[in-house]
Amino acid sequence: MAGMDLKIVCEKIDSQREILHNISETIWMNPELQYEEVQAHDFLTDTLRKYGFNVTKHYLLPTAFRAEHVSTQDKGPVVAVLLEYDALPVIGHGCGHNLISEAGVAASIGIKAVMEADPTIVGKLVVLGTPAEEGGGGKVQLIKKGAFKDIDVAMMVHPRKFTIFAPPTLSKINCVIDFKGKESHASAFPWEGLNALDAAVCFYQSIGLLRQQIKPSYRLHAIITKGGTAPNIIPAEAQLKMYIRAPTRNEVYELKAKVEKCMQGAATSTGCTYSAQFDEENCYENLITNPVLGKLFGKFSEQLGLPECDTMKEIPAGSTDMGNVSHVVPSIHPVYDIETNAANHTIEFADASYSTKAQAPTLIAAKSMAMTALTLFRHPEVLAQVQAEFLAQRTLK
Ligand SMILES: [Zn+2]
Ligand SMILES: [Zn+2]
Repeated sequence: MAGMDLKIVCEKIDSQREILHNISETIWMNPELQYEEVQAHDFLTDTLRKYGFNVTKHYLLPTAFRAEHVSTQDKGPVVAVLLEYDALPVIGHGCGHNLISEAGVAASIGIKAVMEADPTIVGKLVVLGTPAEEGGGGKVQLIKKGAFKDIDVAMMVHPRKFTIFAPPTLSKINCVIDFKGKESHASAFPWEGLNALDAAVCFYQSIGLLRQQIKPSYRLHAIITKGGTAPNIIPAEAQLKMYIRAPTRNEVYELKAKVEKCMQGAATSTGCTYSAQFDEENCYENLITNPVLGKLFGKFSEQLGLPECDTMKEIPAGSTDMGNVSHVVPSIHPVYDIETNAANHTIEFADASYSTKAQAPTLIAAKSMAMTALTLFRHPEVLAQVQAEFLAQRTLK
């Protein structure tokens, strides 16, 4: 049966190649920031409707959506394929979320084609449009609003410069830090001022020094977003935006306590005050790849010509709100090689995400997702294994 399913999936996806390519091109040409993905939302929901899915626009969030296709008998596993479509400021689709949308639609029409060809198959396919991955926590909000309550398994793929079926990602918290001082004439009466920019610089250097004393897998990075208005005015206000990351949420909180000491030190030494706002509500969890699902995806990906890279398996890279989903339902979030040497979040990666070279691996990733979902629809015992592993991982946590 798997051979026949694979044939139908490949034929369906390959026959729609141009329309699928057009999905990623259209989204790439109109980059929209987190929670502003209005055009991508409308375009993707219209496309899914044309393919015969039952679509709910603006599902729980203004730019989220949910599309469904149910087997003839309304029972069996509920598998969600997740799409992302938000872009980054200035560099547009420098994370390739246009390709995630293409892969998600491609996988979904492949799954649907098999469900239509064989009425004995049981299951429900949910295509979930998830906005605001780049820092906005779209999936965190969707989890809170109950989007995953009836879902058994969730899956998505993400473009990168190599292929890893179970990539480790970091837990993350965002923070805004404000230092307050007192303005004065920078030349005539500098001793009457308290320099908030000095406090920000002092803090920035402190976290740089802290880096030597923390684990190699931890990440601290900040930008100064406010640092004065004119050189002849002692800056009374300065602001930084910062991400704190570590392999688990507990470690993020341990690191956060050290970072807060750096803030206190910077404020004390400059005579300034500070306030820090941590976005606890949108804290990203580390990704837990379900081993059964990860191996299934990997088997199909290798079979179709997208093998895993050996060297980068253990190195955590970045964070994703798919991590939060993976703590709620068994999940996979493989990353796949789009034939570039560029890192995500660069202009070069944006170019690679538009390049026709990205098309073949994107469709292989989509076919592998489709086959993973169909294996669950065909074999209830595999879903039981997936759920057993999920429970075992939760106990370990
Ligand atoms: Zn990104
Ligand atoms: Zn991304």
